[in-house]
Amino acid sequence: MLESSPGRLAIDSAGLMVAIGVITGLRLGLPVAWAVHVTHVFLFVCLLGLSIVRADNPLTMTLPLIYPALAFLLLDDIRRGLAGTLLMTAALNILLATGFGPTLHDGTMLLDGALTVTVVMLFQAAVMALYLYHRKQAILMLRRISLSLNELASHDPLTGLYNRRTFIEVLERELSRRDDDERQLAFLLFDVDRFKAYNDHFGHPQGDELLKQLAGTASEVFSRGEDVVFRLGGEEFGVVYHTETPEQAAHMADRLLASVEAMGAPAPAGPHDNVTVSAGLYLVQRRHATTANHVYSRADQALYRAKEAGRARWLHATP
Ligand code: GH3
Ligand code: MG
Ligand code: MG
Repeated sequence: MLESSPGRLAIDSAGLMVAIGVITGLRLGLPVAWAVHVTHVFLFVCLLGLSIVRADNPLTMTLPLIYPALAFLLLDDIRRGLAGTLLMTAALNILLATGFGPTLHDGTMLLDGALTVTVVMLFQAAVMALYLYHRKQAILMLRRISLSLNELASHDPLTGLYNRRTFIEVLERELSRRDDDERQLAFLLFDVDRFKAYNDHFGHPQGDELLKQLAGTASEVFSRGEDVVFRLGGEEFGVVYHTETPEQAAHMADRLLASVEAMGAPAPAGPHDNVTVSAGLYLVQRRHATTANHVYSRADQALYRAKEAGRARWLHATP
């Protein structure tokens, strides 16, 4: 027959209520940290309580020995888990010494109980701390891998600029908030003139170097906090930027074209002695619905017209 006692019944009922309360609370949006703390305190108190209400059975003392594992797993924090374990070990030893716990007949039994409790608690604590430490290391490593994967997915490896995928995201975001912003939002699309001839003349690796240099120049010209420069394809780049006025946006396009030419890279097939770019500039109208793809294709048309008109120039896109 199963023995029962009011104390154990009370602990069991309280456990049931706390468990249901925590599950319901979590479903209703109770922060997980709160649920952890409630459960933790409850376990701590119950395991001590069980040692007292089952004082007739010396084996009851082993019940709280599962505590270190729970403390560490619930708190997921090595220092606090260790503090919890030490507190619990101390409390169990006090119970033993003051005779609240299981009935111990002599000093040897007492010493045996105290040592068992202490050794098992500390041993478990060490195992759990090691386990958590290694889990933390693994999580950190995964986080680092995920960061570098993100970096790879959003950047162009040659120039380090953001890539086309990020461009659509950034432009869509800027378009969606332009009505809250008094400034002019602009998109400049530019492409190296006669780059194929440059590659043919100097070789592909030198062509790569020119692209990197170009990325540096564009990043220097567009270096304000919110300016973003992208490499959109082979030798095609884009910039999303803000200015106070449309005139300033146009002035920035002038500056970029002048800075590229001032790099002084020789252009074997013109149109000028030094390497140049052609560009299309799209000025985003306020309160005029548009999409990133529309902005890009209009700027691309303007870029095409700039090429047709003789290169080394930029033209306005029509909205
Ligand atoms: P246009 O003035 O009309 O733009 O003439 P273009 O020669 O620049 O244009 P075209 O599209 O004919 O050639 C682009 C060249 O860019 C061809 C391709 O080999 C080169 N290119 C594309 N990506 C890279 C790259 O990553 N590195 C190098 N070195 N060259 C590239
Ligand atoms: Mg080109
Ligand atoms: Mg091109």
